[in-house]
Amino acid sequence: MSAASRPVGEWPDAGGHFGPYGGCFVPETLMEPLRELEAAWTEARNDDGFQAELRRLLRDYVGRPTPLGRADRLSERLGVRVYLKREDLCHTGAHKINNALGQGLLVRRMGKTRVVAETGAGQHGVASATVCALLGLECVVYMGTEDMARQAPNVERMRLLGAEVRGVDSGQRTLKDAINEAMRDWVTNVRTTHYLLGSVLGGHPYPTMVRDLQAVIGREAREQILEGSKRLPDVLVACVGGGSNAIGLFHAFLGDAAVKMVGVEAGGRSTRPGDHAARFLPEAGAGAGVGVLQGTRTYLLQDPAGNVLPTHSVSAGLDYPAVGPEHALLHDEGRVEYASVTDEEALAAFHLLGETEGILPALESSHALAWVVREAPALQDQIVLLNLSGRGDKDLAIVIDATRPPRGPGQG
Ligand SMILES: *Cc1c(COP(=O)(O)O)cnc(C)c1O
Repeated sequence: MSAASRPVGEWPDAGGHFGPYGGCFVPETLMEPLRELEAAWTEARNDDGFQAELRRLLRDYVGRPTPLGRADRLSERLGVRVYLKREDLCHTGAHKINNALGQGLLVRRMGKTRVVAETGAGQHGVASATVCALLGLECVVYMGTEDMARQAPNVERMRLLGAEVRGVDSGQRTLKDAINEAMRDWVTNVRTTHYLLGSVLGGHPYPTMVRDLQAVIGREAREQILEGSKRLPDVLVACVGGGSNAIGLFHAFLGDAAVKMVGVEAGGRSTRPGDHAARFLPEAGAGAGVGVLQGTRTYLLQDPAGNVLPTHSVSAGLDYPAVGPEHALLHDEGRVEYASVTDEEALAAFHLLGETEGILPALESSHALAWVVREAPALQDQIVLLNLSGRGDKDLAIVIDATRPPRGPGQG
C-alpha cells in the first residue's frame, strides 16, 4: 500500500506500517509476545471498563486535564501569542506518566506481574516506577551509566519508589544501550514480564499504543483552545526525542489543514555527525539515513556503512539516534515541519521562561520554546500552542553548570 493511499493520521496499517516506516523487526522469540500485546491492547482500548479506569486514574492520580495557559509576559516579549500546554504539571513532572499508566493497567489486565523499562532522562523510569508502585508490580529500570550520572536525583527517586535500577555500561552508556538491555531481559522473562517502552518507538504495536495513550494531550488542548480563544491555533510546537509528546499533541489536529505543526529536535553543539540528535537535519543526509533500529524502520543517524552514530544533546530525553516511525511519514508528507535548535538556544529559552512566566521548563521542552524565540519575527500575532512536556527541576545541575563562567588561568 502506498503512503498516499491513506489520509494523514489514519496510519498504521494492520502490520504497524506508517507508509514505508514502522513495522516489526524483532527476533523470532519476540514475535509472539508482540502479537499477544497487540491483541491485548486492541481489546483493552475498545473496552469501556478499561477506558473508564484509565480516565479515573488520569484525573485523580495524574491530575488531568492539565491546564492550557496563556503566557502573557512571554507573548509580549516575543510579539507572539503563546499558549502553554502544562504537561509539566502532571504527577511526576512530565507527560511520560500518561503512557506508563496506560501500559501499567494493561500489564495487570494481561495477568503479568513484572515490568522492565529503559530510561534516558530518568523521567520515563520515574513514571514507570511510580505506576508500578501504584499498581503493585515489580519494576526493573535499565539506565546507561552516563545518564545515571547526569540524572542522579531521578535514580534516587526510582529507588525510593521501590524500583531496581540497573546501570548499563556498554556502548555510549545512554538510552540506546539501556533499550538493548531491557529487550534482552524481556526476551528471557517474557512469560511474567512486560516491556514498558517510553516513547513512540520499537516494533509494532508500541508506536501506535504509545501514541494512543499520549493523544489525550492534543484532545484536551484542542478543546481548551477552542473554548479559550474561540479558534484553532496557527502553529503547534513540541520537542521531538522519540516523539511521544509531539505526536500526543499533534494527533488530534492532523485533520485541521490550517494548523501548522513543528517538531523540534536537538541540534546539540554543531551539525557535525556525533554532535547532535537531529535525525531530519538535511546535512545529516536525512533521506540516506533510513534504517532499522530497535524494532522499527525509520530515520536514524548513521554513517554511510550503516553504523549508528553517537549523538549529543544537553537534554538526555532528546539524545537518541532514531525517531518514531509516524514522524518519519509526517516528515515525508510535509504535514509536520521538523527543525532543530542548539544546546545554547535551548538553555537561553530555559532562562527566558523562568524570568517571564515563573516556570522552569525541562531542557527538552526548552527546545520547543527556543524555536518559537528564533522564529518570532515570522510568527508575529499568531497563536502558537507549545507543549511544555516537563518541568526543569531535574535539569538544575546542568543549567547551573552551563551558566557558570569558565575559569580563567590561575583560578584553577
Ligand atoms: C522524555 C522526554 C521528552 C522526549 O520524549 P518524547 O517521546 O519525544 O516526548 C521530552 N520532554 C520531556 C520532559 C521528557 O521527559
